[in-house]
Amino acid sequence: MKGFAMLGIGKAGWIEKEAPQCGPLDALVRPIVVAPCTSDIHTVWEGAIGERTEMILGHEAIGEIMEVGALVKDFKKGDKVLVPAITPDWGSINSQRGFPMHSGEALGGWKFSNFKDGCFAELFHVNEADANLAHLPEDIDPVAAVMITDMTTTGFHAAELAEVEIGDTVCVIGIGPVGLNAVAGANLMGASYIYAVGSRPVCAQIAKEYGATEVINYKNGDIVEQILDLTNGAGVDKVCIAGGTVDTFSQAVKMLKPGGCIGSVNYLGSGEFIKVPRVEWAAGMGHKRINGGLTPGGRNRMEKLVSLVQTGKYDPSKLITHKFEGFEKIEDALLLMKDKPVDLVKPVVIIDW
Ligand code: NDP
Ligand code: ZN
Repeated sequence: MKGFAMLGIGKAGWIEKEAPQCGPLDALVRPIVVAPCTSDIHTVWEGAIGERTEMILGHEAIGEIMEVGALVKDFKKGDKVLVPAITPDWGSINSQRGFPMHSGEALGGWKFSNFKDGCFAELFHVNEADANLAHLPEDIDPVAAVMITDMTTTGFHAAELAEVEIGDTVCVIGIGPVGLNAVAGANLMGASYIYAVGSRPVCAQIAKEYGATEVINYKNGDIVEQILDLTNGAGVDKVCIAGGTVDTFSQAVKMLKPGGCIGSVNYLGSGEFIKVPRVEWAAGMGHKRINGGLTPGGRNRMEKLVSLVQTGKYDPSKLITHKFEGFEKIEDALLLMKDKPVDLVKPVVIIDW
């Protein structure tokens, strides 16, 4: 079968590979809508998780089931499904500890395009199909739904990690597709003032539609000063991080009230250490918490997020700015993500087999 793969750090291209085999609990899926992710860019062009060769990329997909294993109960050939970016081994001890995204080892629930072939292929393998796939309801557009598999769940998780509560003032640093979902998530969780940090007008517009009360531009001066100005020196209750660099943590700590919480889902592609500013961390005694995490995945999470779309509380289609048609267009979509033109939020590729 054909797939678009990481060939080595800095190199990606089409390869031929043997089709995967289906285990008794598993499924083989053919993608019908896929999207490239900023994480694919960190992985290939920054070498963020180290060397990989001939590893098929992609972890955001809506697909059609081509085969299921003998022990799969709730899915059958022909079913349309959401495939979450994170597909844990649910029996793992870390899953039982409440961290399925780290099943087996740290980040172990993130299999596609990390240590297993991803969805930019004619066929791909999903472990534990009953626990990791979700049916795509007929009233949900598959093109919009592909956002849920990674962008929605990850952005919402930033708000969860920041422990947003009703009435909180929140700063969301970074409003690419992930940060925009952190805005939407914080809004759904009851935040009052939401300050979104980005520079591109297309993202600023969607941030406002998702509930941001103010958008500030990090290119117009220190964001800590801008936030302190806007809050009369008080700072914010919670910070979500979905963009920036290792230095962004320092800024987040500085703009946070004592007892506040930072939720970061940023994939830090380079740099050795993350610095915490001693004085603003109240010499270690400020009760300012820093939570960084990989999004949860699995079926229940996907079904819950889909129900937000069905009830009209959340609209993922706003994120899609570029549409490609045809399997071979995966390459163009990924390169577009790498170049990140000013009008891009998220591209999708629609595949008609
Ligand atoms: P984008 O690159 O599209 O967005 C990044 C955002 O950060 C943009 O709004 C950008 O602003 C902003 N930004 C860049 N530099 C700075 C800075 N110095 N200060 C403040 N803001 C800045 O990324 P995505 O939204 O696609 O993804 C965000 C992160 O989430 C990535 O690192 C991605 O790999 C990661 N991720 C993590 C997952 C997880 O489970 N934890 C899963 C999926 C993704 P602008 O472009 O407007 O100038
Ligand atoms: Zn991703």
